[in-house]
Amino acid sequence: MTLKKATRTRFTRYLGKNFRDNKTTLQIYSRDMSDLPKVVKLFIGNLPDGVIQVRNTEDMQKIYELANETRIPITQRGGGTAGFGGSVPYKKGVVVDTKGLESHFLVDPLELTVTTAPSIVFSDLQRQLNLEGFSLCSYPSSFHSATVGGWIAHGGYGIGSIQYGGAKEQIAALEVVLPNGERKRYTELDDISLFVGSHGTLGTITEVVLKIKFDIPLKHQGCTFDSPSEMLKGLEQLSKINPFSIWFLNPDHVTSFNEVFGFNLPRSYVAIISKEVSFEEEEKEFNNLFNNAIRVSGGQILDRRYIKDIWDFRFKGFSLLGECTDYLVTEVILPVETSERFFRKIISKFKGELHLEGEMISPTHYSLLIYLLFEEKLSEIKKTILNLKLYKITTKKSRAKGFPYSTGLWFSGYYNSIYGKEQYRRYQEFKKKVDPKNISNPGKVISPRIRFFPLVRLKAIVKIASRLII
Ligand SMILES: Cc1cc2nc3c(=O)[nH]c(=O)nc-3n(C[C@H](O)[C@H](O)[C@H](O)COP(=O)(O)OP(=O)(O)OC[C@H]3O[C@@H](n4cnc5c(N)ncnc54)[C@H](O)[C@@H]3O)c2cc1C
Repeated sequence: MTLKKATRTRFTRYLGKNFRDNKTTLQIYSRDMSDLPKVVKLFIGNLPDGVIQVRNTEDMQKIYELANETRIPITQRGGGTAGFGGSVPYKKGVVVDTKGLESHFLVDPLELTVTTAPSIVFSDLQRQLNLEGFSLCSYPSSFHSATVGGWIAHGGYGIGSIQYGGAKEQIAALEVVLPNGERKRYTELDDISLFVGSHGTLGTITEVVLKIKFDIPLKHQGCTFDSPSEMLKGLEQLSKINPFSIWFLNPDHVTSFNEVFGFNLPRSYVAIISKEVSFEEEEKEFNNLFNNAIRVSGGQILDRRYIKDIWDFRFKGFSLLGECTDYLVTEVILPVETSERFFRKIISKFKGELHLEGEMISPTHYSLLIYLLFEEKLSEIKKTILNLKLYKITTKKSRAKGFPYSTGLWFSGYYNSIYGKEQYRRYQEFKKKVDPKNISNPGKVISPRIRFFPLVRLKAIVKIASRLII
């Protein structure tokens, strides 16, 4: 335990058993989906001093009050499913686990919104909505373990984003406890976008009002493509159909899918296109548009009996990881138009190990979940090198104009390239106003200085390392 005894007592006096600092708990909360290499851990304090299960908004206000008085940093954590280190402490301190937040669920059928806690996991929320005839507009494929608050703070996209937009477009209102302890409600009329992708650095989300839709049935079509260039052409054509989702897999991922589930899908690029359809006429029109798009792009129509299984597989990509000794997972965003070279480069570098799942998030861009699966155990340093390689190919080497999915800890300092300079300026202004002591998730968004070498920032280390490596 490294918290001063008096500080620890102050936390435990208020939070009792909801404050924990046993070794196992601290270890669990010292990483997210990606682990940091030992050599990087030397420069940062990723092992927290304590973990708090926050129960309600009042708890959160008290936590910020104590954190400001004692200058103890706090790091929020939802499901811990992101892989960018956003929920990993940078300067030790206390991790606030939001999963304990009291949950509630209130649908407004006229406004088409649901008010709920940020701690709710997507699959639970969707189940409750479906029971009342409603549905989420967009959701991540980490549906069964990611929280709504974590998705917003991480700046997510997902299935349905091509039609309904990303996390930002789903929010009707947010309640946030700011780092100065103030409890504030933000609606679409305010600058809600500041809380999207800023990783809790501007406060902790304690209530979410999400936009919802009627649970309109989805009709699916499937197709295959022989090459990335054919598939990219196909994605462009299929986007014009105004679909709910276009989701695709690469041949290696299809092969694993066949092995694990005993199917016999062609070893090619496979895409599933889904559209909301209420009437027979709409379905006919969808089928016509789909057939036309496939004809123009040179793909083949997939046997209907596979479609439902592949669509159900969208939440199960992770189950393939159990079949390999080691793996690496990362996520990037790429434009369709400039991706051909990216596919060529990445395939030649990682042939046989490369498993891809893509989702169109707008008519022009797609998010790509990249899994590298290995039969032997890799050293942490090798994993870091591979991660940097992937990043470099995405952003620079292939001139694909891709960018990191999110900043988190790994890509802190890249907020500009994701959200633009003007948004960054507004972010900085707001941060200065509400968190002058930088206690709310320090080290994220703005690239932090390195322990022992205060003149050097983490972004520089990541940049130099990626230049040296490739
Ligand atoms: C198999 C797999 C598939 C995935 N698919 C997608 C996908 O389709 N789309 C996508 O966007 N992402 C995807 N991801 C990444 C990740 O799962 C999601 O972004 C997810 O929404 C993160 O939610 P979480 O609850 O796990 O957040 P965490 O990882 O716990 O936290 C993410 C960030 O949010 C902050 N945070 C958490 N709760 C709060 C709060 N209440 N207030 C303020 N800040 C908070 C944390 O500090 C951290 O910076 C995927 C990951 C995996 C492993």
